[in-house]
Amino acid sequence: MRTLLAAVLLLFAATVALGDASGAASSALAVRASTEATGARIVVDLTAAADYKLFTLENPRRVVLDLEGTELAPDVKLPRAQGPIIAVRSGVQPGGTLRLVIETTLEAEPRAARLAPSADGGHRVVVDLPDADAPAEAVAAVGTSRVVKPAHAPGSGARDVVIAIDAGHGGKDPGAIGHGGTREKAVVLEIARELAERINREPGMRAVLIRDGDYYIAHRERIRRARAAKADMFLSIHADALRDRDVSGASVYVLSERGATDEAARWLAERENAADLRGGVSLSDKDNVLATVLLDLSQSANISASMQAAEHVLDSFGGVVPVRKPRVQQAGFLVLKSPDIPSMLIETAYITNAADERRLRSDSQRGKLAGAIVAGVEGYFTRSPPEGTRFAELRRLAAAD
Ligand SMILES: [Zn+2]
Repeated sequence: MRTLLAAVLLLFAATVALGDASGAASSALAVRASTEATGARIVVDLTAAADYKLFTLENPRRVVLDLEGTELAPDVKLPRAQGPIIAVRSGVQPGGTLRLVIETTLEAEPRAARLAPSADGGHRVVVDLPDADAPAEAVAAVGTSRVVKPAHAPGSGARDVVIAIDAGHGGKDPGAIGHGGTREKAVVLEIARELAERINREPGMRAVLIRDGDYYIAHRERIRRARAAKADMFLSIHADALRDRDVSGASVYVLSERGATDEAARWLAERENAADLRGGVSLSDKDNVLATVLLDLSQSANISASMQAAEHVLDSFGGVVPVRKPRVQQAGFLVLKSPDIPSMLIETAYITNAADERRLRSDSQRGKLAGAIVAGVEGYFTRSPPEGTRFAELRRLAAAD
């Protein structure tokens, strides 16, 4: 579903880029206010698209919307005080800019969007004033139901993408053991730490280590920790083993459709207790059919996102990290079963192969491996940036060029 949302956002960004005002003046025909559980909204109806700036002032708290090349049409009544809106005033700024000042008790960061004519109305600029104290579910429901263009206000605060790095095994579970005595749980932790360090050096990316020591964590707890960290991606790091010592190279796995189906049954059975899906879709308040459909949509979108991300990683292995199979593999690994976080399991090498085992023990080889994974992940987020991130901002700027 996030893929869908991303597509809608992209479309919207493209519309904005094409529809840039040509300097033609616009008139504000109406200024409307409404309040709801999630906050308040101001809609300005315009005769033509207008560029805008949105920013806030303090003491008292005011949200300011500047509409360039716009005049207030005669007889327009500004909204009266209601709920968290204390007052709305208008003024004219130099250069023919219409300024609307909204005095409000709402403290959360406001957002604005420019809407092209549609069935819902003509040219509009919409200002949302979220209520930070509103129930998260209500806010999320609003957030997914429309497209919002972040304001070009200073410090618009694009967030980092969060990458959960899961070093496999640990503690009582050593994982595979190489013929030279190398233990999987130890080398994958080294790789995970190297990976986290490199990710944290990249602008717009932040790593979360699911395991950062020699202890065991159950698979579902690993997933829970990634969800708690609001991860945008989950990378599980392993090293493979086989009786045949000649087999070598890395493989990348994502969840199989079959694995997803099995997991769906569990989510549905436990949905009263289950956490909401990312994007705030709750399953607990839906009937069986709707919950099944929603979960299924989320899972399919997630498998295809995982597949794309895994392909980026596998591509960047090319020539740098020896690869066993040139295609992404699918399996029912429990740790990949998040229905809404793109997830992959990377078997970095065969610990049972002498050359691979040496590679796993080498700092410089582990560095190369980590570098290739970061490049792949970055490639994926550049193409499919989650909403509200620096990657999304860069993509929008590129689209506007
Ligand atoms: Zn393993």
